[in-house]
Amino acid sequence: MRVANYAGRAALIVPEGYVDIERASDGRFSSNPQALYERWDQLVEWAASWTGEAAPLDPSQLQIPVPRPTQVFAIGLNYAAHAAEGGQPSPEFPPTFTKFPTCLTGPDATVELPSDDVDWEVELVAVIGRRAVRVAESDGWSYVAGLTIGQDLSERVVQRRPPVPQFSLGKSFPGFGPIGPWVVTPDELPDRDDLAIACSINGEEMQNSRTSDLIFSVPALVNRLSSICTLLPGDLVFTGTPSGVGFARTPPRFLAPGDEVRSTIEGIGELRTYLAASAETEASS
Ligand code: ZN
Repeated sequence: MRVANYAGRAALIVPEGYVDIERASDGRFSSNPQALYERWDQLVEWAASWTGEAAPLDPSQLQIPVPRPTQVFAIGLNYAAHAAEGGQPSPEFPPTFTKFPTCLTGPDATVELPSDDVDWEVELVAVIGRRAVRVAESDGWSYVAGLTIGQDLSERVVQRRPPVPQFSLGKSFPGFGPIGPWVVTPDELPDRDDLAIACSINGEEMQNSRTSDLIFSVPALVNRLSSICTLLPGDLVFTGTPSGVGFARTPPRFLAPGDEVRSTIEGIGELRTYLAASAETEASS
C-alpha cells in the first residue's frame, strides 16, 4: 500500500491513479494525512478490500505525506563508510538528534540556502505505525507503518558550532527536511532490509549505497529509541545517510542556488528538491 498527501488530503496511490481516502471510505477515515497513522491497522485492512475507481494522478499535487509528526528522530553515523569519511568510529548506540518538525517539507520543494555550507544527505525515513515502548528488535518492523525518502539537509557550520555541536539546529532551517513522495508499506518492497539508496546533484551521482549497510537497521532503531522514548504513530525516524556527502569531498562541495537534488530509494521512488538563494541574502547583496 502507498499513501500520500494529495492536494492536502489523504490518498491511496494505486496503479491507475489516486483514491481520496475520506470519500472512498464514506468518512470512515479522516482526510488528514497525519491522522492515518492513528488507525493504521484498520486502514491497511480497508485498503486491502477496497474496490472502486481511481482518479488520474497529477504528480504536482503531491504534498508532504506525513505533515505533522509529534517527534522526528534522526540518526547520525549509521553507515560505516559515512562514519569513516567524517573521521568517526562506528557508534555503539545510535547518535540521535531531532529535526524540529517545522523544517519538514514535501516533494519538489524549493529550499532557500541560508549559507554556502549546506550539505545533502539522502536517508531512508521510517514512519511509526503504533505506540512503541521498549520494543524488542525482533518485533521492530511491526511498529513501522511504512517507509519514505528523506533529505537530511545540513548547515555544517551551525551543526558543528562550539562548544557543543548543534545537530538539531543545523539540520532544522526551513525546508531542511523534505520527505516523500509517499509512504510505502514494507510488504510492497522487494526486500525491506536491503534497498538501493542514492542521491544525485544536477544529474551527477553523489551517494549510492544499500540500506543493508545500515549499522543500526530499522528494527534495531525502533528497539534502541523505544528503550528511552515513547514512539508515537506518525513519528518519523531519519535513519542516517551513506557516504558521499559534500563536506567529506576533496575539495568540499556544498549546495548552490539552482541545484537540483534527486534522492532515490528502490521500491519507493524519487524525491526532488530544488535549492534557491535566500531572499535575505539576495536583498542584502
Ligand atoms: Zn543525516
